Amino acid sequence: MLVDFHVHSTASDGTMAPSALAERARRGGFAALALTDHDNCDGIAEFVKTGQTLFDKTEDAPRLTAGVELSIEPGTGFDKFHLLGLGVDPENAALKAFLRRVLEGRNARNRRIHANFARLGIEVAPEPHGEVLARPHYAKWLAAHGYARDIKDAFDKYLLPDSPAATRCYEERWHPPEAEAIGVIHAAGGLAVMAHPRYWKREWRMTGVDYAAAGRRLAELKEMGLDGLEALYAANTPEEDVEFTRLADRLGLLKSAGSDFHGTNKPEIALGMEVGEAFIAPLLERCVGVAGEKNHA
Ligand code: AMP
Ligand code: MN
Ligand code: MN
Ligand code: MN
Repeated sequence: MLVDFHVHSTASDGTMAPSALAERARRGGFAALALTDHDNCDGIAEFVKTGQTLFDKTEDAPRLTAGVELSIEPGTGFDKFHLLGLGVDPENAALKAFLRRVLEGRNARNRRIHANFARLGIEVAPEPHGEVLARPHYAKWLAAHGYARDIKDAFDKYLLPDSPAATRCYEERWHPPEAEAIGVIHAAGGLAVMAHPRYWKREWRMTGVDYAAAGRRLAELKEMGLDGLEALYAANTPEEDVEFTRLADRLGLLKSAGSDFHGTNKPEIALGMEVGEAFIAPLLERCVGVAGEKNHA
């Protein structure tokens, strides 16, 4: 069956509107699709409304799930930890307050970035997307104003932790600790699922994944309440699919499958993951929908 539990829309850094994604799920014969924008639930209302008006009562309609992708403090020895909240209530007060704090942390970081550029004599004025001003917006502005050849060059020169000291304007933003993020996802009625474990540690890109280290840390996270692992991920190698699936089974974590679709911003990633029914049944059992299928009667 065709599912996708990791999808970005124009509410973060994707290029398809939430309504268009709901329509694609319907036309493409998806069993389930979760909208998981970065650090916000702003696209969910449109996503749900489209599902409800387009196909809510139909037999074979896809289950639409409200989700979010949170950037978490990665923990000692790790580099990048993204946590999916699947089946959250976007109106939950604890979740809304949490997302507000994340946004404030981003804004405080941006003020430090502006000061760094000012010291270089560059008065940056990037265009935010809605309320969100992220590093790609800076990169786009720098490239457009002749301070870099292109977006990649702008990142390399100014916006990365290892940019050259003379031009580095990078600043860290606040990342919530994992226990708090898991707690908030649970408070909002969702499942906490670790996204793309292959990116957890930067050096794994060279060495391959250290499954023993990943397993030890995942066991601790499960104790903290982690519900699942995105075992099938579009960018995984076949071996990574097999090993992360094995790891999730061994630890008793729910298994998820996601593409990390971003529309034409990442044209190499297609929407949808083909999965076996036995693989995805436990997640479908636990992960609530907000429109479509027969899941919210
Ligand atoms: P921010 O949340 O403002 O720190 O920005 C993070 C975003 O920057 C990520 O989602 C990526 O899309 C983008 N990004 C990070 N590193 C790079 C890079 N080396 N080249 C291009 N884009 C990057
Ligand atoms: Mn993204
Ligand atoms: Mn991610
Ligand atoms: Mn993502």
